[in-house]
Amino acid sequence: MATDEELALTVNSASKAFESWSQTPVHQRVRFLMTYQQLLKDRIEEIAKVLCQDTGKTKEDAIGEIWRGIEVVEYSLSAPSMLMGETVKAVGTSIECYSYKTPLGVCLGITPFNFPAMVPLWMFPLAIAAGNTFILKPSEQDPLTPIVLARLMKEAKLPDGVFNVLHGGARQVNALLENPSVKAVSFVGSSNVGKHIYQKASENHKRVQVLAGAKNHMVIMPDADKEKALNALSAASCGAAGQRCMAISVGILVGEAKDWTKDLTERMSTLKAASFEKGGDFGPVISKHSKERIEALITGAEKAGAKILLDGRNYKVTGYEGGYFIGPTLIDDVKINMEIYQEEVFGPVLILLKVDTLNEAIDMINRSPYGNGTSIFTSHGAAASLFKHKIEVGQVGINVPIPVPLPFFSFTGWKQSFFGDCHAYGKQAFQFYTETKTITERWFTDTDIGQMNMTIRLE
Ligand code: NAD
Repeated sequence: MATDEELALTVNSASKAFESWSQTPVHQRVRFLMTYQQLLKDRIEEIAKVLCQDTGKTKEDAIGEIWRGIEVVEYSLSAPSMLMGETVKAVGTSIECYSYKTPLGVCLGITPFNFPAMVPLWMFPLAIAAGNTFILKPSEQDPLTPIVLARLMKEAKLPDGVFNVLHGGARQVNALLENPSVKAVSFVGSSNVGKHIYQKASENHKRVQVLAGAKNHMVIMPDADKEKALNALSAASCGAAGQRCMAISVGILVGEAKDWTKDLTERMSTLKAASFEKGGDFGPVISKHSKERIEALITGAEKAGAKILLDGRNYKVTGYEGGYFIGPTLIDDVKINMEIYQEEVFGPVLILLKVDTLNEAIDMINRSPYGNGTSIFTSHGAAASLFKHKIEVGQVGINVPIPVPLPFFSFTGWKQSFFGDCHAYGKQAFQFYTETKTITERWFTDTDIGQMNMTIRLE
């Protein structure tokens, strides 16, 4: 954890670096990122190894995560065109008006444990490409991966102070939120912490974007391809041990699809939690505290009358008896007032709800306070069309279980899954990490001199 002195040094260094970095031509800034992108690709195995040790993820998950981050670095290379302003030739006689996008200064990223490479990469390449300097405050639960990302920036010869990693928890975050040199804050994490960050950053007049918690539903219609839908539901609920903000944690079975629970149980029971060395389908959850919290939620659901079809509590992996593993868990007969439905579980736990019609499923999802992601599996175009237009969720998949947009779109969570105005990555990131300066300009010809007027007349 950084001391107060280290924190002050880091902010000073980032502020000082901003003076020259913001003046560095954009194509030169982008060249550093091109080198960085190549280094990430060349060293992906090395980064993945640290990421697996840091989080317990499988190698496949780690490699997939790093690739999603590399895609954002690739997108950051579009900065020269994305940073273009607007121009109108004649807003008055001999008067032109145009705008620049200028960087903000020191930007801060506060990131969660579940994607220690991808989520920081959603932020700093774009902030830096836009001419800002950046301080990353990663999760204290897996702090090693961000250090590898920073070392590669050093190898890319990025000037000192442009990208900084500062370790810490609530104390360091709060000090940074009060520091006047920090101009913008990007946060990804749980809803409760996110609300605090949003409030405190706003009170301190900072630009802020908060990507928060989720509860994502997948609707399965009776006309869906059963095999594909159930495979997708199993993988989307248990992949990365369910520790994805876009994981599917609620399956809604519609009409005759209500009878598919036996097949679903069979499929989910083939998934195995294991250590990254043993190569299972997913790894352990992040901590003892997390394992205990998830197991308590399962026990609570059971006591409240839900039916545990597949029980991942007390799951053991040979050779790793002390590991924080939870096996695939499937819970039926859930009511929406139960804690297991109300809370974000963030583990390999899928709960089932059953309804008669698509409209009931849509109403149920729209009543959820969260709006990160959702999906529908159907072979009926009209059902898909109704769903995509009526659903109040920001990222929608049609026969796609986890609809995470590629970086040239933005990550558009809604409701309590997002607080702020500009979403992460995509065009909105360039909007978030810049300020607009608008210039109105007139040059006098010989005949104009001496007739200067303070107002612009639109003629
Ligand atoms: P978390 O909220 O506990 O921590 C996130 C960050 O906030 C960490 O860096 C942590 O050090 C800091 N923090 C924690 N408590 C704080 C406090 N009181 N004051 C100031 N800073 C504090 O989240 P987590 O458990 O690391 O991550 C899981 C959560 O992140 C889940 O809720 C998940 O849905 C969410 N998440 C959301 C998205 C998204 O795109 N919406 C993406 C990934 C993760």
